Amino acid sequence: MQHNANRKKTWLTVAFCAAALLAINLIFFHQKIPLIVLIAFILSNILIFFFLLKFYSDKILLVRSALEHQQEAINIIDAENKRSQEYNLALKLKITRYDNLKKLIEDLNSSLKLDVVIRALSSTVYTLISNSTGIALFYLVDNQYQKLNLVYSIKDDGDLVVLSKEGDIFDQWVLRHSSQLIIENLKKDFRFDSDGISGQNMRSVLSLISSPLISNNSLLGLLRLESRKDHFFNQDDLRFLSLVADLGAVALENSLLFQKTQDLAIHDGLTALYTRSYFIDRLRDETRRCQRLDQHLSLMMIDIDFFKQYNDKFGHIVGDLVLKKMGILLKEALGEFNPLLCRFGGEEFLVMLSGIDKKKSLIIAEGLRQRIQDERIVLRRQDTHITVSIGVASLPLDTKDEDELVQKADKAMYVAKGKGRNQVCSA
Ligand code: GH3
Ligand code: MG
Ligand code: MG
Repeated sequence: MQHNANRKKTWLTVAFCAAALLAINLIFFHQKIPLIVLIAFILSNILIFFFLLKFYSDKILLVRSALEHQQEAINIIDAENKRSQEYNLALKLKITRYDNLKKLIEDLNSSLKLDVVIRALSSTVYTLISNSTGIALFYLVDNQYQKLNLVYSIKDDGDLVVLSKEGDIFDQWVLRHSSQLIIENLKKDFRFDSDGISGQNMRSVLSLISSPLISNNSLLGLLRLESRKDHFFNQDDLRFLSLVADLGAVALENSLLFQKTQDLAIHDGLTALYTRSYFIDRLRDETRRCQRLDQHLSLMMIDIDFFKQYNDKFGHIVGDLVLKKMGILLKEALGEFNPLLCRFGGEEFLVMLSGIDKKKSLIIAEGLRQRIQDERIVLRRQDTHITVSIGVASLPLDTKDEDELVQKADKAMYVAKGKGRNQVCSA
């Protein structure tokens, strides 16, 4: 703007001088002055005109170069400004992230529940790093089978799908190296062969970051973010993911231990079936639910016949093996009915069948009795068979009260004993 105004001013001055000279010349021409004087005068005018022209064009050049310098300085300031704006933005993002870390730590400290911990970790990185786009995946390491299990995922409304529930080549890489991984463009990453990557191409994932959760030198899980854009994640994102994973690993280990302790508390150590107290709690809840929904619920009280004789004949340890076998048989025979199985005490077992009426439960009980009777059990190299007596009672037919339901099933079981054992009796 400034540059154009200067130029305009210069040309106006030159034009004004030229017009003035022309006017003076015309006046001289009318005064009948000698030709030689006139020519000398005109020549001197032309010289003055060219001198002025040169003088102003030099000035224009000077002004122009000054302007160019100024423009350069402006460009440098602009670039610096842009850089500091980007830096400010990055700083703001960092502050937001680290502010949210405080909330994450509070969440992690507030609960020992495994699902709460996993959800808190996944949603923190999904919102703060991925901006709630793409996919967040949380895997737990299954030490027994040496594999990964996908336990939680969050995804946006897009077309991305979770392909592998047991992890893929990228997760294997993270596990093998026990280190975090960033892939900026999946199609151009030389570390992975094309076969592994072609599976990913189908999902339109282009970049990902992943970090292992390691506590006390043991690998507990893996946290991974995926995006359909290439170069979506940077080193700052990876650093933040690792930080969350490190914080999460300790919380995860605590909640895994807590879950293990809880599991031990509600499971019988010998048969791995539920304990009596846990079963009664669940029975109370389930009774209320079935009453509310007007559904049936049946109970089976099962007692091994003449069990004392097995102990006496083969010893207590072998007797324990029979109880263990009984737990497996119950799971196998009744699995399809989604039962709640419990070791009620000694050699007595309770089975809850939700949503199953008396008639059907009697048929199921008879099938179970038959199955147990037919099972060949080898004790100290001797083929043996065990039999059971089963008592069945149902809600709402026999009673509406859960305590009475247990009593009625127990009573029916004793009726079966009284009738000669190895049979099913109804309340
Ligand atoms: P019935 O047909 O009348 O039920 O006869 P039973 O011998 O099974 O019944 P009884 O109540 O007389 O004996 C139950 C036995 O179960 C007594 C006890 O030694 C045994 N028992 C209870 N708990 C355990 C256990 O944890 N392990 C072993 N090996 N035996 C147990
Ligand atoms: Mg018995
Ligand atoms: Mg008994």
